[in-house]
Parts: sequence; structure tokens; C-alpha cells
Amino acid sequence: MSERCILVGGGLHGCALAFQLASRGVEVVVVERGVVGAEASTAAAGMLAPTAEAWRHGGSATAHSIGKASLGLYPAWLARVEAASRCRVPLHLTGVLVEGVSSSLAVGEQPARRLGAQEIAAIEPSLTLSEATLVSGEGWLDPRVLVPAVQAAARAAGASFVSGEVVDVSAGAVTLRREGAKDQLTGRIVICAGAWTACVPGLERLPVRPVRGQMLSVRPSGPPPSRVVFCAGPLGSGYIVPREDGRVLVGSTMEEVGFERGVTAAGVSSILAAASHAWPGLADAEVLEAWSGFRPATPDGLPLLGEWNGVWVATGHHRNGVLLAPFTAAMVAAALLDGTAVDPALAPGRFFLAG
Ligand SMILES: Cc1cc2nc3c(=O)[nH]c(=O)nc-3n(C[C@H](O)[C@H](O)[C@H](O)COP(=O)(O)OP(=O)(O)OC[C@H]3O[C@@H](n4cnc5c(N)ncnc54)[C@H](O)[C@@H]3O)c2cc1C
Repeated sequence: MSERCILVGGGLHGCALAFQLASRGVEVVVVERGVVGAEASTAAAGMLAPTAEAWRHGGSATAHSIGKASLGLYPAWLARVEAASRCRVPLHLTGVLVEGVSSSLAVGEQPARRLGAQEIAAIEPSLTLSEATLVSGEGWLDPRVLVPAVQAAARAAGASFVSGEVVDVSAGAVTLRREGAKDQLTGRIVICAGAWTACVPGLERLPVRPVRGQMLSVRPSGPPPSRVVFCAGPLGSGYIVPREDGRVLVGSTMEEVGFERGVTAAGVSSILAAASHAWPGLADAEVLEAWSGFRPATPDGLPLLGEWNGVWVATGHHRNGVLLAPFTAAMVAAALLDGTAVDPALAPGRFFLAG
């Protein structure tokens, strides 16, 4: 395909698709109105945990299967990102510990082992859980390392990034505003605008809404959990995610507050209550940072991937956008460049079927 592709939005999905398309020789321009990666993509904890997510947040079989497919693509995709960007992006697939046991943990036959209090204490001495399930092969990476690396890989493959706010979209052209002036870019348009998708003129009917998540980063005074922990105690649910430098992330809220940014006392106290029930040592940790971000949610919890009314869409990844980056980039690029059919369960048109 010789036609240029204009990607609206420079989050992880804009960067990942730019890398995929540019690697195949397509001319790619990414238009970002703010700082590349500064919204949901670097607010994320970076968990790669399709099974724990499906179990704890009621994901569908499709959500679980695309999540597992994407996790399977991660090592080879990261190797390509690292080779192109010359940045190292460590991947930690040391298992995810989920508080409680599930009678339905046949979810996709993921290898999962039930652990009692003693076994948990043996592998994670900082936790005080009485029972948990260890899902192997899942884990985390740091989005603040990943996103700049994917952007650098996209640039190295030939993609360019321009600053500007897209204020109009039609099949074949976008109008962007930058430094007070308007400019038009032509090409095939792909919307990667995350939670703001339905704010893009012409896309108001796409059912993507923001779900705010608050997060804290702390420096513990003693050894923290060494792997991702999903907590589901009497004081609410949350998660704990380690970092290589000893920091630990604890999150997160799920709030329907529109695009209201901010960290609230109620949000922080619910995060701390959920996590400290599993990890009492959290009480002595120094709080380093607190932030919030907007997950791009859809009514059925699945992303919107494919063509709709003459534009292409790669958005709506909700809680699993980091996990789903390699899958989305591969699938949307194959549909765009090779005409590969998109799974109807993911196609944006599924919400507009007649009848
Ligand atoms: C607190 C929190 C924790 C999370 N934890 C995880 C996790 O552990 N694992 C996981 O897999 N996922 C997680 N997620 C979800 C994940 O972060 C998102 O699904 C994913 O980052 C969405 O990426 P994106 O590129 O679509 O959106 P974004 O990163 O939000 O990027 C969209 C970009 O589009 C730009 N844009 C919008 N409109 C326009 C316009 N008109 N013109 C130009 N630019 C525009 C925005 O400025 C923005 O930079 C979490 C999210 C949050 C908020």
C-alpha cells in the first residue's frame, strides 16, 4: 500500500501501530495533541494478566482469548521493539498471585496452582493471605519504559510524529490545529485516541467512555511482594505491582466521572485499604507519587478494531490496553494492508447492527 496512514493519537496504540505499519514500508504520520504516551498508556500499571483480569473483572471468553494471544506475541514483539529502538524493555512473567480460589479457574486452561497460607508465605513472605491462586506465565512490564521504546522503534522504522489537535475527520483527510493555524493531512485515517475517541468530530457515535483510575507509587521500608498480586479482601479489590528499582505501584479505582482529572482522598484510601489487607508492610511505605488516568471503556469490554464509516479505529482497550498492544497492532495492520478479516466480535460496527 503506497497511501500514507495518519494515526490520530500518540498513546501506546498509536505508537505500536505506527511501528507495525512503518516496518512494512508504509508512510506513517502520528498526530498527538499533547505529549506522546502521557495519558492512559503511562498511567497504567503494566500488568500482563489476562487470566487474573478475566477472573476478577468478569471479562468474556473473547477478552481472555485475545489477551492470551497478545501475551503470547509479547516476547517476539518486544525483541523487535528493542532491536529497532536500541532500548531495553524488561518483561517479568513470573506469575500473578490472585487472592482467593476460583471454582471456575478453568478459564482457558491457564496453568494455575492453589496455594495455602504457608505456601504463600514461602514465596511471598511480605503477604498475609490465607489462600491464593498462582497463575503462571503472566506478569508485568513498566509502561514508562515501554512507551518511549515503542515510539523510538516507530521513528526508527520511518514513522513521523507531529504535534496538533485533530479537529475534523473525514474519510481520507484530517484537519489539525497547531500553533493557532489549521492544516490538513490526507491519507488513510486510523483513530487511536483512547478515551477521547468519541470526542473526535465525526466519531461521537462510537461508544467509548472514560473510566478514571487512580494509582499510587510507594517506596517500601522492607521487602515488598516480588510479583503482581490481585487483592480481593473485605475492604475492596485492588492490585500491587512491583518495579525493578524497588518502587511498588498500588491501584486502582474504577470511576465514572467523565474527564475529571485528579487524585481524591476517597480514591487513595480505598486503594490503600485493599492493598494493605494483603500486604501490611504497605502502612510503613513512603508515598512517592499519585496520579490518575482515563481507561477507554466500551459497553462490552472489548476493543473496537477495524473500519467504520470510512475511517479505521484501534481503541477501546479499557483495563487491558498495555496487554493488547502487540495483538492490536498486528491485527489492524493486517486488516489495513492485507485485507484480513477482522473478528466481528471486535469490529466497531457491532454496536450498529440493524434489527
Ligand atoms: C490507572 C490505570 C491503570 C491501568 N493498568 C493497566 C494494566 O496494568 N495493564 C493493561 O494492559 N492496561 C492498563 N490500563 C489500560 C491502558 O492504560 C489503556 O487501555 C491504554 O493505555 C490505552 O492506550 P491508547 O493509546 O488507546 O490511549 P492513550 O494512552 O490515552 O492515548 C490516546 C492519545 O490520543 C491523544 N488524542 C486524543 N484525542 C486527540 C485529538 N483530537 N488529536 C490529537 N491527539 C488526540 C491523547 O492526547 C492521547 O495521548 C490502565 C489504565 C489506567 C488509567
